[in-house]
Amino acid sequence: MLTFAALLFLYFLPTIVAHNKASFVPIFLVNFFLGWTVVGWIAALMWALVEPGPARVLVQPVPAAGRFCCGCGAPAPSAWCSNCGRRLA
Ligand SMILES: [Zn+2]
Repeated sequence: MLTFAALLFLYFLPTIVAHNKASFVPIFLVNFFLGWTVVGWIAALMWALVEPGPARVLVQPVPAAGRFCCGCGAPAPSAWCSNCGRRLA
């Protein structure tokens, strides 16, 4: 029973590697239907490994006042730029 579980784990290793990837479903289908051919299993594993992880969204915090220094371009929520010291108009 342990051997069967180990073989199952090994067979679906490409799917496990791809669990948080964008192409999870197609990788799973290749793994499921073509995994028994060793070439299909290796292809699914390679695909899962080269696939980039979940897309990260970079959020740039914008000051509430929405003002930027005209000298250096840094966000400046107050009357003075904390980055270069220029007074804001
Ligand atoms: Zn500045």
